[in-house]
Amino acid sequence: MKRNADIYPPLADRTSKEPSRLFMKKTLPEKSQPAKPERGGDCLQTFLLADDAIRGTMLNAGQMINQMRRHHELGILETLVLGHAYMGACLMAAGLKGQDRLTLQVDCSGPVKGLLVEANAAGDVRGFLKNVPIPVDKPLENFNLSPFFGAGFISVTRILADAKRPFTGKVMMAHGSLAKDLAHYYLTSEQIPTSFSLSIKFDHQGNAAAAGGMFLQAMPDAADSLASQVETRVMALPSIATLLAEGASPQRVVRDHFADCAPRFVDRRNVGFACHCNRDQIRTVLTLLPIDELQDIQQKGPFPVEIRCHHCNTRYSFDREHIGRILAARFSEN
Ligand SMILES: [Zn+2]
Repeated sequence: MKRNADIYPPLADRTSKEPSRLFMKKTLPEKSQPAKPERGGDCLQTFLLADDAIRGTMLNAGQMINQMRRHHELGILETLVLGHAYMGACLMAAGLKGQDRLTLQVDCSGPVKGLLVEANAAGDVRGFLKNVPIPVDKPLENFNLSPFFGAGFISVTRILADAKRPFTGKVMMAHGSLAKDLAHYYLTSEQIPTSFSLSIKFDHQGNAAAAGGMFLQAMPDAADSLASQVETRVMALPSIATLLAEGASPQRVVRDHFADCAPRFVDRRNVGFACHCNRDQIRTVLTLLPIDELQDIQQKGPFPVEIRCHHCNTRYSFDREHIGRILAARFSEN
């Protein structure tokens, strides 16, 4: 069966008996425009340290996080969890080229349940939480997200244009913190000493006043002593979001905190929340539904039927006539 990778859950995972999780009650005005990046100050700045023995990337992502929050209608806890995943995927995608992309997936036993984020070489990031809102039984006391993840796995899949098939690496979550667990992923799955810092600073309205991250990785020929410094250097940094909120640029942060490592800036690219879904693609989902489910929709509605893209929460609506035409086409095939 043809599958549409942009739709969650994939059709192959659904049974005809399962209530249609793609459909939702119409409570909000239709958003027929998928997410387009607000290309402003958000960027990935790549740099090299210590005679190129350490590769680093710094991310400024305040606009991306706020756009993600608005599109997905997220509270602070959800913005933190998904925002860290957006920034982690974005930092990991810094080394991609051309049509390459990667996905970061978390499956866990805690109330977060899981998430899926995709980032590509062009700097586009999109993705979703599997459980919104994340159920909480008391107000957030701190930004320790470990209880919300519980036990779980992190999977990173790279879809590279020059590779025959996607490559997936998977590790058990050891820390309940995406920054630490992504570093753990690189060390255990790819044997590369790596460190991540991810942070979001909220204003009084719950919007991101600033958001950003840093990624440092020892190059294969780096001395062991240098590799061991990678983690401690990033851990010793003040919160990246605080530095950005104070008005520092990514280059300034790197210059101020790594002056002794003689930073060399090599690449800067824009990044943003962006989804490439469109109405035709979403209509394809309907055409692939089992005939009895389509007939049920045609008879019972309610119309307009709404399908949303899980990656960006854009809603697409279809009236009874649309469903009738899809059914007629299905009958003419059989
Ligand atoms: Zn979309």
